[in-house]
Amino acid sequence: MASVFRPAIDRMAGYVPGEQPQETGWVKLNTNENPYPPSPRVVSAIRQMAEGRLNVYPDPDATGFRRVAAALHGVEPDWILPANGSDENLTIIMRSFCDAGQQIGYPYPSYVLYESLAQIQDVGVHRLLLRPDWTWDQSRAAELRRSVRIFFVPNPNSPTGTSWSTDQLLELLPDDGVLVLDQAYADFSEQSQGAELLRDARFAGRLLMTRTFSKSYSLAGIRFGYCIAHPDLISGMRKVKDSYNCDAVAIAAATAALEDQQWMLANRDRILATRLRLATALPRHGFVVHPSQANFLWTTHASVSHRSIYERLKQQRVLVRYMKFPGAAADGGELDGLRITIGTEPEIERLLEVLPQAVEPRSG
Ligand SMILES: *Cc1c(COP(=O)(O)O)cnc(C)c1O
Repeated sequence: MASVFRPAIDRMAGYVPGEQPQETGWVKLNTNENPYPPSPRVVSAIRQMAEGRLNVYPDPDATGFRRVAAALHGVEPDWILPANGSDENLTIIMRSFCDAGQQIGYPYPSYVLYESLAQIQDVGVHRLLLRPDWTWDQSRAAELRRSVRIFFVPNPNSPTGTSWSTDQLLELLPDDGVLVLDQAYADFSEQSQGAELLRDARFAGRLLMTRTFSKSYSLAGIRFGYCIAHPDLISGMRKVKDSYNCDAVAIAAATAALEDQQWMLANRDRILATRLRLATALPRHGFVVHPSQANFLWTTHASVSHRSIYERLKQQRVLVRYMKFPGAAADGGELDGLRITIGTEPEIERLLEVLPQAVEPRSG
């Protein structure tokens, strides 16, 4: 029978998110969630909203949230676009700035969701290959600038943990399009770009930043994120979004979370301390650890297969992320490794406890 789908949908495999076991008892270090609970102010804001006005539609513009976010970043509220998770903003950006048949670019290895979003829209994808030190070839970047409508760059990057400088990012601004800095992990980085960069003439008003509550604010269960960009870009994107793209409970939760910076920063500091501990311990078990500016470590093992380490950890109910990137290795082959989210101290303790047997060479 002939397919009833658009050919672009038939051709694509679809994005596969990390495993989300629904029962308790797992040490979950696979999807970069925050191991600590959100601010108590978030919980009371949710309760208050639930007891209040759930029968009416939410504020389509999330006015109160935008005011708080704008003050935090030193911009006006019309520079902010809230969305149902950062991923929704990425979808809005794709639909706003790129037509079927046009192209986007992104560094590789990186967040492959960009590729799935492009495929849905029948958009061509150019990968900017990262070298073993996670830099790129400048002449290749210059070539891509001429042809892409959108360049997506997570900064810090996932899964590598790399943070690129403003000068490096400038090499990726499309001649005729926008540069998207996906700042999902910016709160964990010492060198992340602030919103003042949006007014920097070198970026010509064609820079966007996306933020999420899923990582640093401990709210992956509430879908909420926002984009910061010049009002000319935001006003166009507003035409593309669903009218009520953010629900009232999520808006209330995100606003309260943003208002409690202290809570987020205290958890961030704990995570950074644990990251240092894990980065120090892993080499003792034969791992190579890449410097990270995020709440996870990208690590490879000198002698044991990454998939088997992942599987043996899983048998012990410790979940890390096994990732592979065809064509990303220096020799053109597949690059693979483990991305380990920084959990609580006891969780990392448990990981280190079961790690020795997971890296033992297998007999036979
Ligand atoms: C986690 C993550 C996101 C998704 O954020 P949500 O707000 O949960 O949709 C976006 N980009 C990158 C690079 C991420 O790691």
